[in-house]
Amino acid sequence: MIAQHIDSIRQRIAKSALQAGRRPEDIRLVAVSKTVAAERIRQAFHAGLRVFGENYIQEARDKAQALSDLPIEWHFIGHLQSNKAKYAVRQFSLIHSVDSLRLAAEIDREARKAGKIQPILIQVNVAGEATKSGIDPEALIDLVRSVSALSHVRVAGLMTMPPFSEDPEASRPHFRRLKALADHCAASVPGIDLRELSMGMSGDFEVAVSEGATLVRIGTAIFGERS
Ligand SMILES: *Cc1c(COP(=O)(O)O)cnc(C)c1O
Repeated sequence: MIAQHIDSIRQRIAKSALQAGRRPEDIRLVAVSKTVAAERIRQAFHAGLRVFGENYIQEARDKAQALSDLPIEWHFIGHLQSNKAKYAVRQFSLIHSVDSLRLAAEIDREARKAGKIQPILIQVNVAGEATKSGIDPEALIDLVRSVSALSHVRVAGLMTMPPFSEDPEASRPHFRRLKALADHCAASVPGIDLRELSMGMSGDFEVAVSEGATLVRIGTAIFGERS
């Protein structure tokens, strides 16, 4: 089952990439495994997935321990509290959800202690929704400038989560906006490289790929509905 889902998702990513004149191998599939038991993650690994995205630190630590025999690449995609930065730095090769200088500075401090340069993405609240995490687009350049001055974090790109809609096309303007913001930011902040765009979930990843996503975060379409 899982293997078939993964196969079909990969094909859909490839089709959307090729239609947009992109190379399918430039898009990485992040399997969102929040609430999914370790043994199902193991199955998904054996079906070919390598990158898994988790939202909660404690849950992720438990699963990483249960799956420590597998070379899984863990990404953190949830809201991160500063006091959990230490654990995030230990486990995750990419943190998608940094949206304040305070959090970035805490990650920097923990990464320095761990002797690591921590790759991060800046989460942008593209639609300005009151209930969503993410920095305001207007404040993005200042944040990227400040964060890029930290020595033990490396800003690798931007992430967004558009407003929920049944219609995948409703996400398109938000994905396009994120790409435009990344281009604008890269042109304005010397030495910055924002090549990673984390956008697109089960309902709208094909649209995200056609708008330039390099990381798609997919849960339900791989593992089924979360309970
Ligand atoms: C849960 C989650 C996803 C995956 O959502 P699906 O609709 O199940 O694919 C992607 N990104 C973030 C930040 C999430 O919290």
